[in-house]
Amino acid sequence: MPAKTINDIVALCKRRGFIFTGSEIYGGLGGAYDYGPYGVELMKNIRAAWWNAMIYSRNDIEGLDAAQITNRLMWKYSGHESSFSDPLVECKKCGARMRQDKMKDPTKCDNCGSTDLTEPRAYQLMMGLSIGAMADGAINAYLRPETATTTYVNFKNVMDARPHKLPFGIAQIGKAFRNEISPRGFVFRMREFEQAEMQYFVNPADDEKYFEMWKKIRMDWWINALGIPAEKLRFTPHEKLAHYAKAAGDIEYEFPDGFDEVEGIHNRQDFDLGSHTKAQSEFKINAHVMENKDSTIKLSYSDPQTGENFIPYVIETAMGVNRAMLAVMLDAYTDEQLPDGKSRLVLKLKPSLAPVKAAVIPLVRNVPELLTIANNIENDLRKLHIGRIELENSGNIGKNYRRHDEIGTPVCITVDHQTMEDNTVTMRHRDTMVQERVAITDVPRRVMEIING
Ligand code: ATP
Repeated sequence: MPAKTINDIVALCKRRGFIFTGSEIYGGLGGAYDYGPYGVELMKNIRAAWWNAMIYSRNDIEGLDAAQITNRLMWKYSGHESSFSDPLVECKKCGARMRQDKMKDPTKCDNCGSTDLTEPRAYQLMMGLSIGAMADGAINAYLRPETATTTYVNFKNVMDARPHKLPFGIAQIGKAFRNEISPRGFVFRMREFEQAEMQYFVNPADDEKYFEMWKKIRMDWWINALGIPAEKLRFTPHEKLAHYAKAAGDIEYEFPDGFDEVEGIHNRQDFDLGSHTKAQSEFKINAHVMENKDSTIKLSYSDPQTGENFIPYVIETAMGVNRAMLAVMLDAYTDEQLPDGKSRLVLKLKPSLAPVKAAVIPLVRNVPELLTIANNIENDLRKLHIGRIELENSGNIGKNYRRHDEIGTPVCITVDHQTMEDNTVTMRHRDTMVQERVAITDVPRRVMEIING
C-alpha cells in the first residue's frame, strides 16, 4: 500500500464532502474550515463517543456548555492576557512569520533559509472582541481560547446545582479560537477548532493517583472508542512544565510526518480555581453577590466529613476533536490492491463512527418494484435511530460501492430481482467485500450487530 499523506485526506475530504476550505469562494481564510455532510457526521460520532465515556458511563462527571464569547476579565485573571502567547519570529529577507518553537531550525527562515531573523516576541493568541452598542473598538471580550477556563469559572454553579464529593469532574465539548501564527497540517492546527476537555477535581493528596488513572482511561479510549491501534499511539511527558503544572504530557498519534499531540493530560494543581478565587477577593467584581453574602465567591470545596475548606487540584484531559477526526481518517484510509489487479480506496472506520451506517441500493435504478422494497428497508433501518441511512437511486452499482467504500459505510444492502421472488437481499461488507444473501426481515438485526460490533 502506498504511504498515505495528509494530502490524500485533504483530497478525499473535498471530493466526498467531509471538509471544505472556509470562505472558499472568497479565497479562503487561513485556519478556518467548513465541515460538509459527512464531516459533520464523523465529528458528531466522535463527540458522542467522548460524551458516552465521560458522562453516560460514569456518575462522577457533569456536562457543561459555556459561552464562547467571554468577559475580558476572565482572561486577565486567568493569566492568559499576559501569557497566552507564542514566540513570533519574522524573516527580515522574505517577511515570513513563524512560531519559533515549531521551526525546523530556529536560526534559519523556514521559507527562504535566511539567517536574518528578528528576535522572538510574544504574540498574543487570543481573539479580542469589541462587543455592544457602546463599544468604541476597545477589547472588552474574548473568544475563548480553550474550554477549560470557562469550566473553572462555573465550578461553584455546577457544585451548587449538583453537589458531589471529591473526586468529581466537569466535561465540556465546544469551540475554541486561537490566532495561531501559522495554521498548518489541514485541520491539525486551526484558528477555530473544537475541544473536548474534562476537568477532574481531586483532593490534593490524591493528585498523582488520578493523573495516572486518567492517562490510562484516555489512552484506552483512543484505542477502544476510536479504534486506533495501540502502536500508533504513545504518551510523552512534557519536558518543560508550564508554571502551573505539576505533571503533564501528551497522547500522541503517529501522523505521516511523525508523532504529534492529539490530547493533553495535565495536573494543574489549584492554579486555576485559586487564581479566580484570588481575583474575586482582590477586585470585588462580584459586588452584587457580596451584598448578599459576607464573603466573596470562593471556588473551593468543603469536606463534609472534616469540615475542612480547600481548593481542589485539577487533573485535566484536553482533546482536540478535529485532530481526533484527522487521526481517525488517516488511520482508516486504505488504498487497497485487489486480486484482479485493480485497487480501491476504502475508509476502514470503526462502524460506530461511520458517517453513513448503511446504504440501500436497488440494483437497477428507476424500477418501481425494486425502489418500493428499498424504501421499506430504508424506513426499517431509520427506526433503529443509529444515524444516517442512505438510499441510492442513481449511478451504477459499482460506482455506489466505490463511493460508500470511500466514505466508510460499513454495509451496503442491494435489492435485486431475486428479492422479488424470495424476499432476500445482498449484504456487502465494506472491509472484506464479502456479499451474502440475507432475509429482509433479518436486515435490521444484522445491521445493528455490525454497528455495535
Ligand atoms: P500546541 O502546543 O499544539 O499549540 P497546546 O498544547 O497549546 O497545543 P492545549 O491547549 O493543551 O494544546 O489544547 C488541547 C488540545 O486541543 C490539543 O491536544 C489539540 O488536540 C487541540 N488543539 C490545540 N490547538 C489547536 C489548534 N490550533 N487547532 C486544532 N486543534 C488544536
